[in-house]
Amino acid sequence: MQNDIQEILISEEEIQQRVKELGAKLSDAYEGRNPLVICVLKGAFIFMADLVKVITVPVEMDFMAVSSYGATTKSSGVVKIIKDLDVPVDGRHVLIVEDIIDSGLTLSYLIELLRNRNAASVSVVTLFDKPAGRTVSLEADYTGFVIPDEFIVGYGLDYAEKYRNLPYIGVLKPEVYSK
Ligand code: 5GP
Ligand code: MG
Ligand code: MG
Repeated sequence: MQNDIQEILISEEEIQQRVKELGAKLSDAYEGRNPLVICVLKGAFIFMADLVKVITVPVEMDFMAVSSYGATTKSSGVVKIIKDLDVPVDGRHVLIVEDIIDSGLTLSYLIELLRNRNAASVSVVTLFDKPAGRTVSLEADYTGFVIPDEFIVGYGLDYAEKYRNLPYIGVLKPEVYSK
């Protein structure tokens, strides 16, 4: 697996440090509230797990699975709900936890959906942001790292369902895609 990585973009230590900072910011922002934290599967699962451990206000958690990419590296623009939430969101302060925002299509769809279900507020924390890929105008409320327009893997992010368990963020060697 490590042999397929061309370059480590963000180390495990850098990620852990940034996640702590985001946790502190969110703990301040949600002081006195009991947000519903929604993990967007599968990519955000490792970030979610690390993040909730450094949030000091009581949170509830739910999980949602959407798919927009399949096994390719570019967005199809079609968002499909694979697994919906288990709990109602009306009246709740919702925090969406995303792995990465590229085109913004997945997220704009999710925000719209949760607003239509009458959430009291909808905010977004994303660990990675690729502003160069945006096709809809959208910004996260909290962002871990702004990264260049490259396809990254690791720390939950996959290529064809692999590499999610790398503890760092890397770029794949070009020959991996042509396999
Ligand atoms: P968007 O709808 O913003 O274009 O894409 C959002 C989703 O596409 C992310 O949640 C992630 O699953 C996938 N994605 C976008 N960019 C990358 C990337 O650089 N690497 C990986 N592994 N997935 C990405
Ligand atoms: Mg995602
Ligand atoms: Mg993926």
